[in-house]
Amino acid sequence: MIVAVASGKGGTGKTLVATSLALSIKDETNVQLLDCDVEEPNDYIFLKPTIIEKQAVYIPVPEIDEEKCTHCGKCSEVCAFHAIMVLKNKVLTFPELCHGCGACSYLCPESAITEMGREVGRIDIGYSNGIGFVQGELNVGEAMAPPVIRKVKQHIKKEGTVIIDVSPGTSCPVVESLKGSDFCLLVTEPTPFGLNDLVLAIEVCKKLGIPSGLVLNRAGTGDNKIEEYCTNENIPLLLKIPLDTEIARGYSRGVPLVDGNPEYRKYFKQLFSGIESIVRKKGQLGKR
Ligand code: SF4
Ligand code: SF4
Repeated sequence: MIVAVASGKGGTGKTLVATSLALSIKDETNVQLLDCDVEEPNDYIFLKPTIIEKQAVYIPVPEIDEEKCTHCGKCSEVCAFHAIMVLKNKVLTFPELCHGCGACSYLCPESAITEMGREVGRIDIGYSNGIGFVQGELNVGEAMAPPVIRKVKQHIKKEGTVIIDVSPGTSCPVVESLKGSDFCLLVTEPTPFGLNDLVLAIEVCKKLGIPSGLVLNRAGTGDNKIEEYCTNENIPLLLKIPLDTEIARGYSRGVPLVDGNPEYRKYFKQLFSGIESIVRKKGQLGKR
């Protein structure tokens, strides 16, 4: 089963939930934690994994053979990202805009384009306390997160439980991380921004056909609008974590919630059982 842990809004406690969920179920099932929040991966701060392998991530960018090029302009026409421009006597490429889709080289009538690898990030592979760990990290200044996320996800072992830490927001990296998940656990907080971004994230899950449920962090502050929304939209509220200075202190020191507050292990186990039963039910419904 693949469980994505996402949050529309940043800073809601997604890392706290992803790491604590992995630590709480690791004795009962094979668990992998994949940190796909590649712009700012920080699960490693809590899990302190041993890294055994690092792999660079490349995307193919065009290189032009000016000897063969007739400056017909087809490559520029086909590029949706304005990463290639044909002048009268020269072709200019902008590798930082290139998405590595390969369309220009495929359609060049003169076979004047070859593809060169450009490094955009790397992945680290390792383990921590019985948990398989993979994280992706974009190089500084890079914007092309999906290739790094895809590389992380190549290491999914479907026979166990996979927890994917998804970046905040609802843009391309989120969709890339969510694709193929059986369930999306959304972590939010009881604030107007929390609700606004939660609604957007739930819409993304619906479009992708992924069932979702909620963890309400810092519960007891703010208002009840998130609970009301969940009731109205039939979104299961699976766990509430109250605002607690002990939890905040542990978090600031890089201590996982379930290590600093061991009583939470049972709540996270119950949370996981809730997810399993929703996924099972959905599977049964799908067979009807
Ligand atoms: S499509 Fe090929 S031949 Fe035409 S301008 Fe681009 S590189 Fe040159
Ligand atoms: S590989 Fe795709 S994105 Fe990159 S320059 Fe060619 S057409 Fe544009």
